[in-house]
Amino acid sequence: MAEQLPILLPCPFCGVVPVIERCADTFDYLTGPRKWWGICCRSTLNLGGSCAVEIRPQASIEAAAKRWNTRAPAQSALDEANAIIEQRNAMCSAYFAEVAELRREVEALRADADELIDTARASTDEGAGK
Ligand SMILES: [Zn+2]
Repeated sequence: MAEQLPILLPCPFCGVVPVIERCADTFDYLTGPRKWWGICCRSTLNLGGSCAVEIRPQASIEAAAKRWNTRAPAQSALDEANAIIEQRNAMCSAYFAEVAELRREVEALRADADELIDTARASTDEGAGK
């Protein structure tokens, strides 16, 4: 009876069902001949895709499947996204506070300028005898 092949998760980048590939054997003088298996996404350019992700060859199909099926926990990605959002919100709050402070300064300068213009007009009017 044929061995059952391990279940493989779809490619994390394009969602295509990957394939198990037998890689070239190697020979090591200490350990002798070794067989290798890889798992690849075959959504390659020549097949109309643009992915072709693969893992490094492993010494067994099971090891290759285990490595291929390893995914970062979704929660860590969510935590990372929330941290980025919080950081951006803090930057936006600081920016808006700075803009509000600059607006107050501009209004104060405008009021000072209006007062100086009024004073200058009043003294001009007095000098002209109006
Ligand atoms: Zn892919």
